[in-house]
Formats: sequence, structure tokens, C-alpha cells
Amino acid sequence: MIRYSEQHIDHEDISKVVKTLKSDFITTGPKIPEFEKNLSKKINSKYSVAFNSATSALHSACIALGLKKNDWLWTSANSFVASANCGLYCGAKIDFIDIELETFNIDLEKLEIKLYKAKKKKLLPKIIIPIVFAGQSYDRDRLINLSKKYNFKILEDASHGLGSKYKNKYLGSHKKIITVFSFHPVKMITTGEGGSAHTQNKKYYEIMKSVSSHGIVRKKNHLNKGINHLLYEQRYLGFNYRLTDIQAALGISQLKKLNIFIKKRKNIAKIYSKYLDNKNLILPTEKKYAKSTFHLYVVLLKNHPQKKRNDLIFFLKKNKIFTNIHYKPIHLQPYFQKLGFKKGDFKNAEEYYEKAISLPIHPNLKKRQVMSIIKKINNFFK
Ligand SMILES: *Cc1c(COP(=O)(O)O)cnc(C)c1O
Repeated sequence: MIRYSEQHIDHEDISKVVKTLKSDFITTGPKIPEFEKNLSKKINSKYSVAFNSATSALHSACIALGLKKNDWLWTSANSFVASANCGLYCGAKIDFIDIELETFNIDLEKLEIKLYKAKKKKLLPKIIIPIVFAGQSYDRDRLINLSKKYNFKILEDASHGLGSKYKNKYLGSHKKIITVFSFHPVKMITTGEGGSAHTQNKKYYEIMKSVSSHGIVRKKNHLNKGINHLLYEQRYLGFNYRLTDIQAALGISQLKKLNIFIKKRKNIAKIYSKYLDNKNLILPTEKKYAKSTFHLYVVLLKNHPQKKRNDLIFFLKKNKIFTNIHYKPIHLQPYFQKLGFKKGDFKNAEEYYEKAISLPIHPNLKKRQVMSIIKKINNFFK
């Protein structure tokens, strides 16, 4: 059986987790700051905050950026629902941005028109959440220019993109942007469940760190008075969004292997791109400003109806090859339809959804398995 993605856990990961299990701290101990420090070092981020999921990191980042009831938050129509839900948690209103059909990231031309119209109606978004789809950044400089003109904050959902770069700089290191990663088992590294947020801004850092633990701030100046454990202040309405030391120990060990994981994913992508039937399939394209780390390898069926795509998925499934679709557009989800979104609202995301397949790609996949997947797919079209 071949899955579209899976974690890679080795003996070192296991022994590091066991070591933490046998230590004094299994929740908030020394492994959390160590993991945060290592993440910061890896991606050149001034501040890192570990969370128990990317979803909680996105929610806390929205709070740090001051998202309030009835503010607008816009995100990609082609994302996981969490990119929109984090705004709903704050009572904000959600709208979507259609994607372009080359990288499947947000379409910045369409966005510019949408912003222009929203400004006239005084309905500009406070936050825009672009997705780093499949591990390839959108054109960030262009989005930053728009953010200056229309005065919104950028919160980057880079759940797919740990280790990915924009113009040769790691995501998570930009002065103006909060970047979020996910450590769910299908993502670039894993902590079981887990995520992180990255900023260069001390205020945002302090709010996110505090919100991850009930909105509490510990007062350091009482540390020497012997009653430190009694003295804390709740300043914000926070949550229990804490990662555990057990998970952080796994994260520290996984992070060391990130470069190898990326290399393996890129190699698999290269094999697919070399041998897959490009008469029937649209293969991924890479941009000058950002290469993909291939969290996903997505192909689109050319000139075939949706049924053919579905047939391919079932054909592969019968051969024990499990693919996926990323994503059903968020505005087509029943919950969002109840909020008033309709089919036809974001046409590119809908077209993409009818044609796309995410093929298996993960560090455990062997070259011969990739070749056998390719052979099956190419035969399907013969
Ligand atoms: C995986 C994912 C999330 C959610 O991550 P969790 O860690 O499971 O909360 C959010 N956005 C995108 C784009 C994702 O792929």
C-alpha cells in the first residue's frame, strides 16, 4: 500500500522521545524553548512559538494582529479549512481569493481588483492569509506592495512550507510577516500534532506566546522572592494551545532531518516530472522567485471531464496507491455555503478541484515505487 504522504520516524526520534518520557518534564519543560530556538536558527526567525497545531498558531497569530469581531479576513479559496476558521474564531468575517492555475497560489491580479473594489466600499481586510501551496511560495514582494497600498497584515499559512524559501530567504524570516508551519504527520516534519508561528516583532511574539497558555504572562522580577510559582498575570483571553516536551523532543530530532526530507521529496518530484505522461497531465511548474519543497506533487488532467479524474483515483486505489485532492475549495464546504458562498464564486479554485490529484510523495517512497506509480498512470491513459 502506498499512501499520498506519511511520517518518517527513525530510531533516533524514538530514543529522544523515550528520553524525555523518562525525564522530569513531559509537558512544558526544557524541550519547548530548545525546539523554538532550533526552529529560529534553522529559518533565521527572531522569534518562534511552538503550538499544539498550526490551527492554534493561526488563531493566536490572528489575535496578535488584532483581528476583532466584524473585521474582514481574506484567504485562499484553495486551502485547508483552518486558514479560514482561525478568522471565524475571532468573530471576523471571511472572504476568499481565487487562485491562479499555474502554482495554485492566490491570484494577485484578481486580488488587486478585489482590494480596489473593497476600498470603495470601505470593506478592506485587516488580514490576508496567503497559502504556501505544496511548499512553493506565492509572489511575496507583490503581496507586500499591495499590503502597503491597502493597509492589511500578512499572515502566511506555510503549513506545507517548512524549509521553503522565497528569493533565497527562508519563510519565517520576513520582517513584516507572521509565518505558520504545521507538524502534522503528513507535513514536512512531524511532532504528531503540532505547529509553530514565527515573527521578528517582539510584541506579536509576546502575545502569541501568552495566548498559547491562557493569556498568562509570568512576572520574571518575582523569580527570586520564592513565591514565583504563585505570581502570574492573565492579560489576554488565551487557550491551552501548548505543545508538550514529548512532542518537542520529536520535533528537535525531526528538524535535523529536514534537509534530507526536502532532498528526497525533490528527487521524487524530478522522477515524476521526467516520466509522467505530459500529454494528458499538467505537471507542476516552478517559479524563479520560489522553488517548491514538494510537500505535495499535484497534477491536473488536461482536457478530460471530472469523471476521468475520479476514475484515475479509483483505478490507482484498486492498485493500492492512495492519492488525495488538495483541496475542495473552502467556499464549497457546507458550513461556508450556509454563510452565503455559492458555486461559481471562485472559478479557478473550482476548476482546479475538478482536475487535480495529489500523487504520493514522502521521504519513505522508493524510486521503484515511484516508477510503478508512473507506469500505472501512463497506462491508464493508453
Ligand atoms: C495542515 C494544514 C493546516 C492545519 O494544520 P494543523 O497542524 O493540522 O492544525 C492549516 N493550513 C494548511 C494549508 C494545512 O495544510
